[in-house]
Amino acid sequence: MLIPKTMSAVVYRGPDDLRLESLPVPRIQSTDLLVKVAACGVCPTDIKKIHYGTVPPPRVFGHETAGIIVKVGARVRGFRVGDRVALHHHVPCLKCHFCRHKAFAQCPGYKRTGITAGFDPAGGGYAEFVRVMPFVLPGVVKIPARNTFAEGAMLEPVNTVLKAVKRLSLLRGDAVLVAGQGPIGLMFTKILSLQGCKVAATDLLEARLKLALKWGATRAFNAGNQALPGVIRSAFPTLDAAVIAVPSDDAVHQAQELVRGSGQILLFAQTMKGIQSKVDLSRICLEEKDLIGSYSSDYTLQEEVARLVFSRRLDIRALITHTFPLARTAAAVALASHPTPESLKVLVVQ
Ligand SMILES: [Zn+2]
Ligand SMILES: [Zn+2]
Repeated sequence: MLIPKTMSAVVYRGPDDLRLESLPVPRIQSTDLLVKVAACGVCPTDIKKIHYGTVPPPRVFGHETAGIIVKVGARVRGFRVGDRVALHHHVPCLKCHFCRHKAFAQCPGYKRTGITAGFDPAGGGYAEFVRVMPFVLPGVVKIPARNTFAEGAMLEPVNTVLKAVKRLSLLRGDAVLVAGQGPIGLMFTKILSLQGCKVAATDLLEARLKLALKWGATRAFNAGNQALPGVIRSAFPTLDAAVIAVPSDDAVHQAQELVRGSGQILLFAQTMKGIQSKVDLSRICLEEKDLIGSYSSDYTLQEEVARLVFSRRLDIRALITHTFPLARTAAAVALASHPTPESLKVLVVQ
């Protein structure tokens, strides 16, 4: 393929300010790949950065990226021009103190973003081409011929969910509350049900409760119901764990009450720094209910995630409700940040 000199990219220029601009196509070193982007998911963590301006502009965001390799550095082995690939912008070193503790998201190497479309590396998926640096090459996954780029782009979010599920000490037949049935909550519901758990799903939107049942929930409850704790308790007398996939304090407090002694409450949506909430500490000490969190992906789960998605045991295609062309990335971000009852995962496709 003839690689052009310039490309379209959606540049973050300040809070809520995304502009379609022309940038030079990234130059690669002998240790890098150049990938033509085909699909990139709109992720809540990027939305937050765009909306609150938590990182300095300019940047090109987008980290749930899949595309075609168009150039391979002379010293790169194992990849060819034309390979269809899914990318991971963070890869742990596997050697440091954090990695030895499997705390990959805390590894200093992991925190470095290794994919860029220009400026300070920030993922770059909202551009036509990205440069993939050597330290994230172990995170490049080939997409089988039968699967779509969109499925490739979903590996990263699925990984974050599977990682969180593995933090729960669950046995087959256990019951888990999943609060929030957006794209992430639905993935939790499905993966937990595939692992033989009974899932109590909650959400405020009826359309999402219907979907939750399709995605493997045993029962689905409207979170707006004042009598919710009692209703859940009579349907699920023993709840072994709860996943909070919605930024709601009430959901956390309710879960702390509902989960059995020695159970676990996992926070997945509480990513804004400085969020404070009152917690009855005796729930943790006396009732031994663990309050834990999970963030980002686990590199060592990559193969398991790829099998789950590419085999379509977890058929992620049903989660993608809207796609936008690159030029309309701002509209994609706006929809993902103000979801409608029908909208789930939003992708930018090229
Ligand atoms: Zn993401
Ligand atoms: Zn490390």
